[in-house]
Amino acid sequence: MKNLQWKVEQLPDEKRLVVLTGAITEDADLRTLAAMDGPGELAFDLAGVDQINSCGVREWILFVRKLADAERTFELVRCSPAIVRQLNTIANFRGSGSVRSVMLPYYCPSCRNEVHHPLELGPGASKEIPEDAPCPKCGGTMEFDDMPATYGSFSS
Ligand SMILES: [Zn+2]
Repeated sequence: MKNLQWKVEQLPDEKRLVVLTGAITEDADLRTLAAMDGPGELAFDLAGVDQINSCGVREWILFVRKLADAERTFELVRCSPAIVRQLNTIANFRGSGSVRSVMLPYYCPSCRNEVHHPLELGPGASKEIPEDAPCPKCGGTMEFDDMPATYGSFSS
């Protein structure tokens, strides 16, 4: 299990994108991340978070609570299937943040390739989940590999 890492990118409009990768566990240093100062809105890119354990869930909830206490505006973008699972089962997982987009998992039965495609959830987005997608590796048909209802159900 790869420990959580992040890098911060400056976006226009004083917005900052924090790209997180790895696993969220008791070893994830989310306190440092919560203490990050500076003005502007934060967006957390969670496409690279492949695992989160029960201690990690607790750390994450403390983290979003700290952001709320500090009156920081934030959004969750490109939420990985591991994150979507938590968003669906734990009511306060996203805290005061809004869920802007999720990553849809596709699996290729011919070559066992796995690919994640982003789905926008913002206002005006279609929120339509394609049942299949072309496999970039073998040209076969990839199938949506989860329960569609859990991916389009976030109101932001
Ligand atoms: Zn394939």
